Amino acid sequence: MATLTNPAEIARETLKQMMIRRMAPSPDNYRAIYNEIAGIPEKTAEVFPERELKALLLLLPKETPAQQGLARQLDQALKNQDWDGYRKPLADFIREHSSESDLAWGELIAEFLQQWETKQSGFTQARKRESLDRVLSASGRNSELLFGRLQNLTRSWSMDETAANDIELADEAREAAATGAAASPHATAGAPLSRASELLPELRETFVFTLETIVTALLDDEPEFAAQARAFATAVRGASTLKAVQTLLADIRRFAFQLEFVAEDRAELRTGLLKLLQLMIENISELVVDDRWLNGQIGMVREIVGRPMNLRTINDAEQRLKEIIFKQSQLKHSLVEAKEALKQLLTGFVDHLADFADSTSDYHDKIEHCAEKISQANDITQLEDVLDEVIRETRIIQLNAQRSRDDLRATKQRVAAAEQRINELQDELDRASQLVRHDQLTGALNRRGLDEIYENEVARARRRRSPLCVALLDIDNFKKLNDAHGHDTGDAALIHLVSVIRETLRPQDTLARFGGEEFIILLPDTPAEDAAKALTRVQRELTRRYFLANNEKLLITFSAGVTEVRADDTQAAAVKRADEAMYTAKTAGKNRVVSA
Ligand code: GH3
Ligand code: MG
Ligand code: MG
Repeated sequence: MATLTNPAEIARETLKQMMIRRMAPSPDNYRAIYNEIAGIPEKTAEVFPERELKALLLLLPKETPAQQGLARQLDQALKNQDWDGYRKPLADFIREHSSESDLAWGELIAEFLQQWETKQSGFTQARKRESLDRVLSASGRNSELLFGRLQNLTRSWSMDETAANDIELADEAREAAATGAAASPHATAGAPLSRASELLPELRETFVFTLETIVTALLDDEPEFAAQARAFATAVRGASTLKAVQTLLADIRRFAFQLEFVAEDRAELRTGLLKLLQLMIENISELVVDDRWLNGQIGMVREIVGRPMNLRTINDAEQRLKEIIFKQSQLKHSLVEAKEALKQLLTGFVDHLADFADSTSDYHDKIEHCAEKISQANDITQLEDVLDEVIRETRIIQLNAQRSRDDLRATKQRVAAAEQRINELQDELDRASQLVRHDQLTGALNRRGLDEIYENEVARARRRRSPLCVALLDIDNFKKLNDAHGHDTGDAALIHLVSVIRETLRPQDTLARFGGEEFIILLPDTPAEDAAKALTRVQRELTRRYFLANNEKLLITFSAGVTEVRADDTQAAAVKRADEAMYTAKTAGKNRVVSA
């Protein structure tokens, strides 16, 4: 096809081609066809394909020390975005492995079959099968290891029983020496011991891995200890003589002692921090007196930090503290405005009073002066002048009074406007708080909060391959309770239910208000059967802990549906299943839990 140059034409042609070739309309496909038509060479090496390489690394086996070593190298290269550092070890590894075909499998299998069929004294068919099973399961997919062990096994069958036992003993001693462990006097050629010695190299590698990766990660904020752990890992890997291993053992024991102190220090630090946090929260709650919403939130944070701490409860506490801080800053703003308005009112008022007092005392002076003039007046014309003056002064004071009244009225209006603005602000705040993650009445998560947590929980469950359950519960006959005892009592019942659920379920379970008197509970690491049991426990707890309304004991019950989240579920699909199960519980007579 002739190369087009006009971008609009290229774009049109691209779309046409995509249609002709029946390609999915994805950005990648579009880009590829566009480049093809425009004659732009494909650029590949521009971006380091970290995601793909990481996915590849995840797929690689990590069973043998060599495979684990390769994985570590590749991981490091990924961190450094070092393409050569990734490619070379991988290529070398594959090349080395392909040399495995040098192993004389054909001969070994022929020899093996011959020994399998030959009858040797002391080796029954059952014992042979058992040995073979052991070799197969202990060697995993490492063909080199398998080859060596199979060869030894075949050889041991070809000898008499004592010689064969000697071979097994020798095997064990060699491996024990390699790992530096003193050979046990009871290390006879019994099957389990031989198997244990085969596992020793793996045990050593796992220990190295634990030191190198896990311990150092845990000692993130203690670089010296981390470096020491790394050094021990290297030493463990290299230790080959009994003496070296003995020294190493003593050193590592000392190191473990020191780590114990580190752990104690950390525990103390954590307790201290927690106390500090509790103190802070207590203090905030002393400061906040008359905001119901804030008080509720703070009470909940206090409850969260009072429970055993884990990452989830800390996150929860952080989120709620943020909401409190947000609300507080808003309130502070409106409080400043209210104070400003009050100050204006007072200053204006005092000014007016002063003006008024000034003019009235002035007036009094003048009137007194006039009175004197009147008493001293000798004729009527003099009196007329004085009277004119009195009238004039009185009119002035009258005008002043009127003006003061008008000013006061205007100030009053301004204050009313400021008051209204503060009320509007309060409304706005209430609306804003509905947008945050918690339901104002009960403090449970609202739908928005649920959506966020749901995503996290599903991702976590997938990562851990652990079951996650969704439960939907709906209070029974709630309308009746509202009608009989009033809406406020209904509200209090919702709060009561939430507190019973919180105290009965585990801290890692998530509770959200889904609608009026409907709640959703997420139960991580829980199969459906256990989730149903947990909800039944809540029901039992509700019958134990009556809800008190005006000194009357009321029993709150609910119906619930439970379902386990499936691999291909959307949130809506899981909730729908739980809802259907809940409905079944309702129709079956309420106050029960049904699994979907
Ligand atoms: P069922 O056992 O079938 O669930 O009957 P029900 O009466 O509980 O169910 P229905 O859905 O008919 O009534 C739910 C009632 O919940 C209606 C509504 O007035 C009340 N409600 C919803 N939200 C609130 C709230 O926030 N506070 C109070 N007090 N009542 C609420
Ligand atoms: Mg309902
Ligand atoms: Mg109901």
